[in-house]
Amino acid sequence: MGIDAHESPKHLRLSLAAAMSLGFRPGQFYRGARLHCLNLLLTYEDGCHANCTYCGLARGGGAYAERSFIRVEWPTYATGEILARARERKSNFERVCLSMIMHPAALDDTLELTGRLSRECDQPLSVLVNPSAMRDGDIEELRSAGADMATVAVDAATPALFDANRGKAVSGPHRWERYWATLEEAAVAFGRNRFGCHLIAGLGETEREMLATVQRLRSMGGRSHLFSFNPERGSALEGNDPCRPDHFRRVQLGRFLIDYDIVDFNSMEFDEHERVVGFGLKGAELDRLVDSGVPFMTSGCPGKTRLCACNRPFGDGPPSDIRSFPFNLDDQDVLQVRKQLATYPEVPAASVLDVEA
Ligand code: SF4
Repeated sequence: MGIDAHESPKHLRLSLAAAMSLGFRPGQFYRGARLHCLNLLLTYEDGCHANCTYCGLARGGGAYAERSFIRVEWPTYATGEILARARERKSNFERVCLSMIMHPAALDDTLELTGRLSRECDQPLSVLVNPSAMRDGDIEELRSAGADMATVAVDAATPALFDANRGKAVSGPHRWERYWATLEEAAVAFGRNRFGCHLIAGLGETEREMLATVQRLRSMGGRSHLFSFNPERGSALEGNDPCRPDHFRRVQLGRFLIDYDIVDFNSMEFDEHERVVGFGLKGAELDRLVDSGVPFMTSGCPGKTRLCACNRPFGDGPPSDIRSFPFNLDDQDVLQVRKQLATYPEVPAASVLDVEA
């Protein structure tokens, strides 16, 4: 357990969006986006002990409390003050989420905070667990302590990319097999649709590889929460290009079809570059789904009334280049998405959608 006054469990970091929603910070979001999940992160003076290439929290990146995570600032506040404000303004939120980091105190503090958050917040609680800091049986402990869902940030879509960005190749503690073993545990402890994983598109995977991983999780009963890679300042990948929009759009649409049991991965078709050229759904049905915009909205844990409460406004792209829409798409947004879906760079057009439709 942290002993410093500004460490967890007495203190937590919260996303800038959450800090704005609770009135800790001024400001409003572009196009009136509202946050529907209170996203919380453990905090320690010596920070995260892992070394993921794409993460602003990786060890050696400077003072932990000043580092960004998913490209936004996460200010630190007293846990009691956060909970008091969350109770006052609870109508904004449909879920609370607690994220672990790699730290010796993280597991005990997460268990303690899970109990406290579930008692003191009148909202379902997700825990974004770190399998490298857990033992067999800890997932069930979290459920007993009051967690409503457990999610694992697998992030990289293949074992090779996982190792290169999080594992042995970067002297990191994380292991692909351990992560999937934790997901198996979560499937048993929480049940169908009550567990999931984070996946980042644009770390070098093909569309086929990403959607095969989405299907693997869906076959276990879980759902994937997608992020579009956007280089984080201070991370090892800060010089890399962001995920291409066409790649992300096809992965978003494929993920939605798989996660909501509309189409199986094996019914999808891919070109020689492993890009989706057939989603396994007839034209009119696919058109209706694309026009609804829903597959391109942020994917994350659900709320009482929302398919996704955790809408992370502009967490993986700026307002000028929205990747995960935190609100319903308008006609212009859908038109832009259609163009991106139908783009296959440096390869003769192999569109599955009529851009003019
Ligand atoms: S999708 Fe959101 S609420 Fe769910 S575990 Fe991830 S960060 Fe937390």
